[in-house]
Amino acid sequence: MVHEVPASADTLPDTLHRRGLMFILSSPSGAGKTTIAKKLLGEDRELEVSVSATTRPMRAGEVDGKDYHFVSQAEFDRMVEDNEFFEWARVFGHSYGTPKGQIRAGLKQGRDYLFDIDWQGTQQLYQKAERDVVRVFILPPSLEELNRRLVGRGTDSADVIAARMARAQAEISHWDGYDYVVINDEVESCFAKVHQILEAERMRRTRQTGLIDFVRELTRG
Ligand code: 5GP
Repeated sequence: MVHEVPASADTLPDTLHRRGLMFILSSPSGAGKTTIAKKLLGEDRELEVSVSATTRPMRAGEVDGKDYHFVSQAEFDRMVEDNEFFEWARVFGHSYGTPKGQIRAGLKQGRDYLFDIDWQGTQQLYQKAERDVVRVFILPPSLEELNRRLVGRGTDSADVIAARMARAQAEISHWDGYDYVVINDEVESCFAKVHQILEAERMRRTRQTGLIDFVRELTRG
């Protein structure tokens, strides 16, 4: 038996074309940004990571080309010279930058990019790509908890942790330069909120470039 297809089914596209977005997550280190970023990438197929270049040494467990592109200072300087970065900054005595690479073309094709960068990088990206950028700031529930998480991570020396704690206060003072602020007191609920922000931003009318044709078809005749 042949089932009749409802008339509306032919007009309903699987997915409307939309422009991708640049989803920025910032927080003082230890506030849970990396955990949230990993969960987002694991659960959301439309999101890919923007891999920064850095001159800092690789940490145990990190992979070149996945966590960062680990480059020499000379190579980094050449990339700056050749205008290959959207933005770059010096952090903890090392250089970090966001390569333009495929991002511009990917946005047109509807790919979303996740950026794990600090407030300075966020400001620079926002200046260059205001309409594509969504800025989310993650706050720790308290400084005591932040310190506990940094020590528990076991990847950094006491000196580095002290520097990160000092820097955390400065970083937190930039909370008002973000579109959304989420307090990470519980990782699952923080993740759910961040994911909802991403989903809602995808539905923004101005990103849904396929709407014009869809609505034209919808209202035809
Ligand atoms: P970590 O060395 O712990 O991976 O990162 C140190 C800091 O550098 C973090 O606050 C991180 O957000 C920042 N960072 C990482 N990549 C970039 C980048 O491409 N640009 C900027 N401006 N900051 C970055």
